[in-house]
Amino acid sequence: MSNKNKTIYDFDFSLIYEYFASLERQGPGSSEVTIKALSFIDNLTDRSHIADLGCGTGGQTMVLGQHAPGQITGLELSSDFIRIFNHNAAQVGLQDKVKGIVGSMDNLPFRKESLDLIWSEGAIYNIGFERGLKKWHEYLKTSGYIAVTEASWFTEERPSEIHDFWMLHYPEIDTIAAKVTHIQRAGYIPVATFILPEDCWTKHYFVPGMTAQKKLLAKYPGNKGVEEFIAAQRHEAALYDKYKEFYGYVFYIGKKI
Ligand code: SAH
Repeated sequence: MSNKNKTIYDFDFSLIYEYFASLERQGPGSSEVTIKALSFIDNLTDRSHIADLGCGTGGQTMVLGQHAPGQITGLELSSDFIRIFNHNAAQVGLQDKVKGIVGSMDNLPFRKESLDLIWSEGAIYNIGFERGLKKWHEYLKTSGYIAVTEASWFTEERPSEIHDFWMLHYPEIDTIAAKVTHIQRAGYIPVATFILPEDCWTKHYFVPGMTAQKKLLAKYPGNKGVEEFIAAQRHEAALYDKYKEFYGYVFYIGKKI
């Protein structure tokens, strides 16, 4: 298998976690975009309960903690990420408001109809967009909100190189119009969609990634697994640069009917 055709599942998980743990965000995004998405949510009070699913080390969760009222639970599969998450929450003085727990977005540990807002940046793809939207619906109160980012096509057609890349890594990528239809069908009113600006990929994701790659290469000289993993990261960044007019991440905000 060439590196180009390796999916993230073909690499050593501990290596992947070590790499991503050193980044402030584990996917494209920015504080500005988190705050913009939050501006569409109008139901929050000090008694609200927010869940951030697939929260990683909590880059966006701490922004939510600083800008939204209520209690926030970050849920994440990796206990290493949750350790960093809770350390970060304490560092910014949010330990009484923002708590990280280990768990799966596939099997939420919350009561039915208990959440006012479900947040998930760059993570719903782990269980699939349609599946996630349907599964999470029953945990929200009526009129509660969902706010997620998801890889989406900007055009009906695109060059085969980038089409094939996504079909291999995440075939559920689709146009914004198709994603909005899924939101409606899963029982939400589509409230807003907006495309994440380019700097969410470059300045906030690929650039910090380059520094982390150099550190990893220096720490594991000659390690084939590390070299292949980094080659795959660089390939992803190069493809983004080449084809960014055809795809990106989109914020989707819906309100439970
Ligand atoms: N929201 C963060 C992290 C995005 S990366 C950010 O935007 O920076 C996706 C995260 O989902 C990873 O931290 C990964 O460990 C986590 N994840 C993958 N499968 C999961 C699952 N089934 N349940 C919870 N988290 C999961």
